[in-house]
Amino acid sequence: MRQKMLEKEISASEENVLGRTVYQKLAPLLIFVFSAVSIFLVNGLVFPAEVKTISLESGDVLELRYRELKPGEPLVLVWKEKKSDFLEVKFLEEKHLFNNSQPQPEFLLLGLDLALKPGLKTLEISAYKKKNLVSKSEFQLEIKPRDFPKKELTVDQKYVTPPKQVQERIKREAELLAVIYSLSTPEWLAAGSFVFPCEGKMFPNFGQQRIYNRVPRSVHAGIDIAVPTGHPIKATNSGRVVLASDLYFSGKTVIIDHGLGLFSTYCHLSRILVKRGDRVRTGQVIGKAGSTGLSTGPHLHWAIKIKEARIDPLSLFELEF
Ligand SMILES: [Zn+2]
Repeated sequence: MRQKMLEKEISASEENVLGRTVYQKLAPLLIFVFSAVSIFLVNGLVFPAEVKTISLESGDVLELRYRELKPGEPLVLVWKEKKSDFLEVKFLEEKHLFNNSQPQPEFLLLGLDLALKPGLKTLEISAYKKKNLVSKSEFQLEIKPRDFPKKELTVDQKYVTPPKQVQERIKREAELLAVIYSLSTPEWLAAGSFVFPCEGKMFPNFGQQRIYNRVPRSVHAGIDIAVPTGHPIKATNSGRVVLASDLYFSGKTVIIDHGLGLFSTYCHLSRILVKRGDRVRTGQVIGKAGSTGLSTGPHLHWAIKIKEARIDPLSLFELEF
């Protein structure tokens, strides 16, 4: 009993530390917002700060929000003043549409995958009235390099060189995941701020290069939170469960679709408490922590994707949605 209470106290104080860290990071960001908003953009200019106002010749005004222009970061593009019927946004070979006739969504999410090559990337925005092109603007975003950590791990050889009989299963599961991430709901299913899926010691290991049994193998596309087996795991925001299944590598796994291409994934669970198709609310318990699949001990592997782009989960706490 005493042990339990102690654990509770520890996790509560860790939460406080986390809360403070987020606040401390947010304060300078907010100051930056005010200084950056006034910077006007012309075609071809490089964005120098965290919130940018984009004014199009058509009279439309957009706002681009981001924590940093680095691999593994999300960009939020908000349509602030609507003058056109629709906007077509092209970025990193992908096309996105803003439609004025629909009340939702008023923002788009663009993901910078953790393996994205740094350099100048073009954001092209075309404004249309009825079917006529009114203006077409190009902006250059300078993606800076990001240093990711490295780690050597020793795991059961069956995960490094999976046995023949499971290779078909692994292939099937990879295909299933690709299909899931390609089907994004066009409305925003999340609401308000994101929450941590559990309390516990957090490892800053997003993007870590994993060297399994001395062979560089994969990049760690999420963050790990140390939690005992059985610890409740909560939905980071509201959405719809699109996968609740036992997978070879990630063990018992839940994936939640939050809309607009954003997905959250919870791995290595000992129990799953939701099923595919369920609508979940922010903070709702979706499973219990564990160590199933490729795992060296009880922990939660928590990952965020914007379509195919692998995103740092901690970035969600520093952006306004
Ligand atoms: Zn992990």
